[in-house]
Amino acid sequence: MAPLDAARATLKSTFGFADFRGRQEEVVERVLDRRSTLAVMPTGAGKSLCYQLPAIELEGTCVVVSPLIALMHDQLRAARASGIRAATLTSADADWRETLDAFRSGALDLLYVAPERASQQGFRELLTSARIALFAIDEAHCVSEWGHDFRPDYRLLRPMMDAFPDVPRLALTATADAHTRTDILTQLGIPEEGMVVAGFDRPNIRYAIHPRDSVGRQLQALLDSEPGPGIIYAPTRAATERLAEKLSTTGREVRCYHAGLPPDVRAANQEAFVASENMVMVATVAFGMGIDKPDVRFVAHAGLPKSIEAYYQETGRAGRDGDPAQAQLFWGADDFARARMRVAEVDAGRQTGERARLDALGALVETAGCRRAVLLRHFGEDPHETCGNCDNCCDPPKSVDATVVAQKYLSAVARTRQMFGAGYVEGILTGQSSDRAEKNGHDSLSVFGIVEGEEALLLKPVRRALMVRGALLPTEHGGMMLGGEARAYLKGERELDLVLPPKKQRRRQG
Ligand code: ADP
Ligand code: ZN
Repeated sequence: MAPLDAARATLKSTFGFADFRGRQEEVVERVLDRRSTLAVMPTGAGKSLCYQLPAIELEGTCVVVSPLIALMHDQLRAARASGIRAATLTSADADWRETLDAFRSGALDLLYVAPERASQQGFRELLTSARIALFAIDEAHCVSEWGHDFRPDYRLLRPMMDAFPDVPRLALTATADAHTRTDILTQLGIPEEGMVVAGFDRPNIRYAIHPRDSVGRQLQALLDSEPGPGIIYAPTRAATERLAEKLSTTGREVRCYHAGLPPDVRAANQEAFVASENMVMVATVAFGMGIDKPDVRFVAHAGLPKSIEAYYQETGRAGRDGDPAQAQLFWGADDFARARMRVAEVDAGRQTGERARLDALGALVETAGCRRAVLLRHFGEDPHETCGNCDNCCDPPKSVDATVVAQKYLSAVARTRQMFGAGYVEGILTGQSSDRAEKNGHDSLSVFGIVEGEEALLLKPVRRALMVRGALLPTEHGGMMLGGEARAYLKGERELDLVLPPKKQRRRQG
């Protein structure tokens, strides 16, 4: 029997599954072929199977590196329940002797260890006394400083595995942006062609993204259209409380959740939400992890999430039951402005990555194309151009070439010596005389009044777009200055295609 056919039989007999899911088959096939692989799959996609199944099929033991003892023991229980010969070597285990004997005699399919153990010299010697089928590295993003959970011990895995050049490696992770993924490949010595990315689409979630203007009213409209339970993420504790208060006049039960609330209030609110069929929870991102509520009908963001990964994870809490659900994001240019200022403050080594994170978010909120396609491409998939279930697919926005207006805007900021706010600069551009402008001599600048008619309507969206792109930056005193990207626009090297949301009232569909 071909190895994959044998594996398929084991999938049924040992695990009781009718078939592989998503791209498990591809990963398992590669591993059985002893080719090193990085499997990127969202939580719940079935990553464990990707090493457990080959562990049974291949001769020798699969050594699994896992960062948390509690997690290891959960997996151990589950593996043993399926009849897999598995053990853990942790400080919490009393049966080391039996485990070592079983390992050396080839009587283990799986051996779970923590990264700090795996990197010790003694462990390396132990490995030479047994037959190793596979190294599986769970939560592999921990190896990367780009990731959200860097663990220095993971860096020692590479030299450990390099001592066994014939043993294939399988790294597994749920969240990884492009940087983190490339870094995982490098840090763990896995070839680029070994990356398998799978199954990030959540087809029942309808994505919609709007510029923010009076977010209370925008959220109100969402609540009116959606009677089921929902989560609204707000950027700060104070903002959650403000919004919760505002929205509680809508007749819906609205509660609040953030780390500043007393633990008993937090627990009570969470419990009430899980049990509820119509509650709205206004929360910071502290809310949601580990909450099992499949019928969340919407997730809204009142401010920009931290990254596309965070956005995906947070919106992913909607519609786990597979029924239609909505993800709505309301963003403002000031979100980007603030985030760019924060980037300028982090140490130089991390700036490129942080900037890339922001640029990716900028591309998502500003695209005239399919939101889902942007998301899925970000996760390395190759989606259709349109999904039919996002705001831009259902109601295509107009896009206009606003390059000239952008140039006028940036020159006005430069000519007024980067000392004024939007209101003043836009007043100069549209030729509004004022005492202040006269006193500064700005009414005689060449940019005075060069924006006319229809163009004036583009000023606000142009300012927003320039801020998103880092061509315009806020100053501490409420003014604006030119950012690093401004030159390219002024010199005509870069164009600004502006997405204008459709004017007509969005019809609710679905
Ligand atoms: P992950 O580690 O990717 O979050 P798990 O490995 O914990 O996911 O698997 C999630 C669930 O999916 C588990 O209950 C597992 O038994 C189940 N599962 C995995 N593979 C399959 C499959 N091929 N068919 C059906 N269920 C599967
Ligand atoms: Zn779409």
